[in-house]
Amino acid sequence: MSPAATNGAHQARVDDDDAGKAPPAADFDALDLDPNISLATHALHADTSLNLQTDVAPSIHVATTFRYDKDPNNLRPFQTRSPAGLSPNEYCYSRYSAPNSTRLETILSVLLKNPCLTYSSGLSALHALFTFLNPKKVAIGDGYHGSHGVLDLHIRLTGCTKLPLDCKPEDLNEGDLICLETPVNPTGKAFNIAHYAAIAHSRGAYLCVDSTFAPPPLQDPFKHGADIVMHSGTKYIGGHSDLLCGVLAVKNKSWIPGMFKDRSCLGSVMGSLEGWLGVRSLRTLELRVTRQSENAGRLVDALDGALTGHTVGTGLSLSDVEAITSVVASVTHASLQADDMSWLRKQMPQGYGPVFSITMKSAELAKRLPSKLKYFDHATSLGGVESLIEWRTMTDPSVEETVLRVSVGVEDARDLLDDLVGACGALVEEGVK
Ligand SMILES: *Cc1c(COP(=O)(O)O)cnc(C)c1O
Repeated sequence: MSPAATNGAHQARVDDDDAGKAPPAADFDALDLDPNISLATHALHADTSLNLQTDVAPSIHVATTFRYDKDPNNLRPFQTRSPAGLSPNEYCYSRYSAPNSTRLETILSVLLKNPCLTYSSGLSALHALFTFLNPKKVAIGDGYHGSHGVLDLHIRLTGCTKLPLDCKPEDLNEGDLICLETPVNPTGKAFNIAHYAAIAHSRGAYLCVDSTFAPPPLQDPFKHGADIVMHSGTKYIGGHSDLLCGVLAVKNKSWIPGMFKDRSCLGSVMGSLEGWLGVRSLRTLELRVTRQSENAGRLVDALDGALTGHTVGTGLSLSDVEAITSVVASVTHASLQADDMSWLRKQMPQGYGPVFSITMKSAELAKRLPSKLKYFDHATSLGGVESLIEWRTMTDPSVEETVLRVSVGVEDARDLLDDLVGACGALVEEGVK
């Protein structure tokens, strides 16, 4: 007799489709938020309650629609279901929710320690936030140019006002929003979250932190007063340059049903395959991000050390230093913010973001350096396991033409440094000015 035939319970479990049984939205009351369990462990096990099949790797569910209960006694009209017409025990239509994305949201909610919803992209998450809160004023600083694009669109529809990040606190009122991106694009410079939280809360306004450049375990903006944490999950959460994703996590759990309803109408849900890829990616989030942060620290140390005469321990030779100083004007990264360490060490205790920027001595040098590199692809975006470099003016009109943005991957740091130094030397040899 086969094991399956003797084990009825096992057979029934295998026949159960977890699409039909798992809750359609992450159940935030049932999440395992045990603070004694580390992030690395949660990333592997926070979704255990959703395992209704025996597969160790979750199944891929691509269905857009799900069969209703066979028993007519269990059928209820739309108005009597919640939230947004759904009972907690059924999937209905994938514009509302779908199993792969629910699994992703379940894990993310544990890692971010607050309930979260996923969206089709980082910008659609930001759009969802503006739509849900409908602030009259938004204070926002430099940062990702697309975020300004979303706000401009919201302004066009609502007449909301844009204020500078460091506006007078009196200019903000109840329900308004401060949008802080930290560390900020494209330089990787960090801002003091607690400072902006205090200003927002003194006026009854909210603080949203775009923490894309410092995913867990690097930074927990909620710990320092953020009301909302946003991620472009396309970057470190996806981590393999192969999926678009946006994330909103919120301190106020009562916002979730309304946000869920908005998302159901806007249709800005992730694709199911992307949701599955996102789960696969989260399993290694801590490994990847820790390595990327360490690598970036070593590269920044060496490049900045060459410029400032602090080369002990960097492994650079005299000729390496000469190659770097001939073409590089400056390096920017949170690790170099010596005057900010009193708050920065508290807010980023595990290390700084894996993105930094290099300002070259001329636009021509910045344009030509990427083509000299072997291990950094010249491309936009960031957060993947592969190192990228971008002559930032290719996509961002607000940035000087001398700026290169570097997104450090999981390669060996020494190989990456040798590659960068070799590229600087090649520019010197060619006489590029
Ligand atoms: C990429 C990015 C976004 C936009 O995210 P998408 O997923 O591309 O829509 C927003 N903020 C920051 C800081 C980003 O790097």
